[in-house]
Amino acid sequence: MSAEHSPLSPAQRRAKPATEATRKAQAIVRASLPFEDRRSFDNARRGFIASLSPLTIKHSRADHAVYDLSGMGFLEGEAPDSVNPSLWRQAQLNALHHGLFEVVPGIYQVRSFDIANMTLVRGATGWIVIDPLTSSEASRAALALANEQLGERPVVAVIITHSHADHFAGVLGVMSAEDAASGRVAVVAPQGFVTEALAENVLAGNVMNRRATYMYGNLLAPGPDAFVTTGLGAALSMGSTGFVVPNDLIRATGETRCIDGVDIEFQMTPGTEAPAEMVFFFPQHKALCMSEITSHHQHNLYTPRGAQVRDALAWSAQIQESIDLFGDRLEVHFASHHWPTWGRREAIDYLEQQRDLYKFIHDQSLRLANHGYSMDEIAEQLRLPDALGQEFSNRGYYGTLNHGAKAVYVKYLGHFDGNPAHLHPHPPVAAAKRYLEFMGGADAIVAKATASFADGDYRWVAEVLNHVMMADPQHAAARALLADAYEQLGYQAESAPWRNFYLCGALELREGKPEGSAARVAPGMADNMPLEDVFKAMAVRLNAERADGLVLRINLRFTDLPKPWLLVVQRSVLHAFEDHAAPVADVTLKLPGNAFKRLMLGLTTAPELIQNQALTLDGDISALQTFAGLFDQFERRFPIVTPRAMP
Ligand SMILES: [Zn+2]
Repeated sequence: MSAEHSPLSPAQRRAKPATEATRKAQAIVRASLPFEDRRSFDNARRGFIASLSPLTIKHSRADHAVYDLSGMGFLEGEAPDSVNPSLWRQAQLNALHHGLFEVVPGIYQVRSFDIANMTLVRGATGWIVIDPLTSSEASRAALALANEQLGERPVVAVIITHSHADHFAGVLGVMSAEDAASGRVAVVAPQGFVTEALAENVLAGNVMNRRATYMYGNLLAPGPDAFVTTGLGAALSMGSTGFVVPNDLIRATGETRCIDGVDIEFQMTPGTEAPAEMVFFFPQHKALCMSEITSHHQHNLYTPRGAQVRDALAWSAQIQESIDLFGDRLEVHFASHHWPTWGRREAIDYLEQQRDLYKFIHDQSLRLANHGYSMDEIAEQLRLPDALGQEFSNRGYYGTLNHGAKAVYVKYLGHFDGNPAHLHPHPPVAAAKRYLEFMGGADAIVAKATASFADGDYRWVAEVLNHVMMADPQHAAARALLADAYEQLGYQAESAPWRNFYLCGALELREGKPEGSAARVAPGMADNMPLEDVFKAMAVRLNAERADGLVLRINLRFTDLPKPWLLVVQRSVLHAFEDHAAPVADVTLKLPGNAFKRLMLGLTTAPELIQNQALTLDGDISALQTFAGLFDQFERRFPIVTPRAMP
């Protein structure tokens, strides 16, 4: 972390204790929820076999941990004033219950070795692994623990429940890409998985990753005034990521498979928690895997790291379909996050709760929208009825009712509320400068905001001081007070992402924006990414101004692929045409597919490839240099709480 951009003094940079207003807010939470209900703790403990102590997973190629719960012991005590008591409870459930657990004989979960669970189903000869975590270091450690405790078995299949990275990016820790290509390991995923996985993680990858560091609190140290949980799981592992192309796609509800003697019945649940997702039932075990369609909290209808909004109504309907398909046979429910629910009555009660949660948010948000309320007004007045809100598994530890209501609004109506004042507002810095002038300058705003802070009106302090930050980021008093307001908002938040966003914002105001290199796609991702997806990723990096007026045609002949491709830059748009070749091209490249991918993703250079005899050129080499110069490198750590330079 670099401090040279922060004008704050050492005292201004320090974390502050909870204020009186925050202590009062925590007391209200403590009095309003049934903390004596300890069923979740019983279920989170049940079936425990073994874990690592301390739970520290090292990086495979570097000298640091990719995942470390060894510093989370502070969660053993009572909730401090700096953490919402309801979130504290969820943090305890996530971080203090880790290791290998038996769900039923033959089905095991490694929980809290990453943000997600890795599930292992014992087949006749080997393991069926469900969701191999976010990094190969974490999945390798999880598999090793299972092999050590339950007997060594080969991985015969990997089932990827959906297109989010915490469920597939660790795949190379339990198998190789060759295992998938040769079919030695069945890789089962829902239809649309490849496109959606890469769309979410590559096309919008840089902005999403930067925002995800806020959401998951990666830059925060563990501690009662900093990181306590992600809500969805104890923490996110930060290790080696990879990708394999599935060799068995599930396309329709009702499809079945028998893998290594284990019967599986599938239900497609696309367009809900993820664009490509499925749930499935193990009839021999009477066990239902709900993937991430259900979890022990209110999930994101809009995820603050940034993603397309999700369909609350479809989500609810899919849970009902799961009940219809499997409800009369299931004895246990488990999922890709959190702990299982045992007993048919308990499991169905829980599924119905989750079903009604998302339908409530959908229906009531639209009811209020039809009264004419804007999304901010809807979010402000929506309250869960006690029948939903007193259930801990419906609380907003990850998603929030506030953002859920806004997601429903955006899904149906978009971001505009119909008020012409909002048709064409100034962007942040331009607006901020005008606000400051109208409000009497930064010092006058800080004086008033100091009084609002004393009153505990931290939301308002954040709103007005954000204008000062966008106009005058070096104003130390405003910057320090804004950081303090974010901090108290973080302390009060029941949602872990909200807490982490607030505390990361405070951290960056205090310490300055962390230095970061240019964003790069991981080599493990690049090698396994289909070519058409590489072209899509390149197209969103094309700098329109630099390409203005330019026409370029590049023929690609791949030495290891059957079809040529033609790349055309014209009208500041990059097109890639499969099985095409231009009769007259500026340059023709002959090289292996992976060499081209690595070249275009910035992992190697043309001179390097030529030197290694991996690339031959026919035509004008300067055309290749011109082409390569058209693409932006994205700054990994762009400003969030301080101004972004406008062109
Ligand atoms: Zn997940």
